[in-house]
Amino acid sequence: MTPFLPHIAGMAGYIPGEQPADGEYLKLNTNENPYPPSPLVLARLRAALDGRLRRYPDAAATGVRRRLAALFGRDEEQFLVGNGSDELLNVAVRCFAGAADGVAFATPTYPYYGKLVELQDARRVAVEFDDDFALPASLSAADARLTLVPNPNSPSGTVVAREDLESLAAGLSGILLIDEAYVDFARGGALDLVDRHANVIVVRTLSKSFSLAGLRIGFCVASPEVVRGMGKVKEHYNINTLSQVAAEAALDDVDWMRRNARRIAATRSRLTGTLRVHGCHVWESEANFVLARMPSSADAGRIASELRRRRILVRYFGGDPRLSDCLRISVGTDAEIDRLLQELCGLMRKA
Ligand SMILES: *Cc1c(COP(=O)(O)O)cnc(C)c1O
Repeated sequence: MTPFLPHIAGMAGYIPGEQPADGEYLKLNTNENPYPPSPLVLARLRAALDGRLRRYPDAAATGVRRRLAALFGRDEEQFLVGNGSDELLNVAVRCFAGAADGVAFATPTYPYYGKLVELQDARRVAVEFDDDFALPASLSAADARLTLVPNPNSPSGTVVAREDLESLAAGLSGILLIDEAYVDFARGGALDLVDRHANVIVVRTLSKSFSLAGLRIGFCVASPEVVRGMGKVKEHYNINTLSQVAAEAALDDVDWMRRNARRIAATRSRLTGTLRVHGCHVWESEANFVLARMPSSADAGRIASELRRRRILVRYFGGDPRLSDCLRISVGTDAEIDRLLQELCGLMRKA
């Protein structure tokens, strides 16, 4: 007899993208930023390495929230900082969905959503994206306690129409959480929906656009009531001292992030164009990765392993029949993408 609760015993663990121990891979598999964080971040981190580390961090991450409030022109009480946006997704599921309560999201999407629903023993309302990844009408019809919309979506990189998001927010009686992990690479986000709809939470992260995946900093924007409630559920010292120092510095140098995001968007269009010329179907991405369906003669799984042998990692979702002919490729530097394209195009020609 397992001592675990049945729903924990019955579930599989989340499998993150591979982080090889030897660093000699070109990593295009987990949507990390190819550019380093701002020099200001590194300088402030070095200056913070002293005896002050004996103290607990500020449980409210006040300095980070103050900067976020200034940057986005809203009140500090509307921001909650998380140990990565993953923590805030976790907190939201625990706050708004109890055992057997409905949580709705369309697939294919970020696999962690499904894991959170299983952890909570909640009920997943199954909705599927069409091949164009537009917002499915059944999401609104489901009217779940909690509805999750990643925008841009992963692994497609696609964005849903603004009007659709706004009418979803207006039509739901439950919470609408918009996961904007990739918004800085896109044309615009939905923060203003928070002002007009009390049920909307927007979640963002410093992992991707700010190049800080290793320090685990995410934040959410919502009404002060929602933020207060979620604050009861987060780990009290969830953002360690160094992460707070880094987040404050990163937010003091937003231009650095914006410059890198522009470079990545330019490399993304080049990658998209070249893959299309070689016969791939590439969804229109507004994120720092693209989803490419291989030409019908090519075997995506085999290409992923061949790339791996050449020390290039991309993401292959073999377990999902809808994605088994696709590769998700993170946008690296121009030189990195040149190398990827050279190998990948060679493999596709041989197929
Ligand atoms: C990367 C990612 C996250 C998690 O980001 P962290 O802030 O690093 O936890 C959340 N949502 C989506 C859709 C992502 O791709």
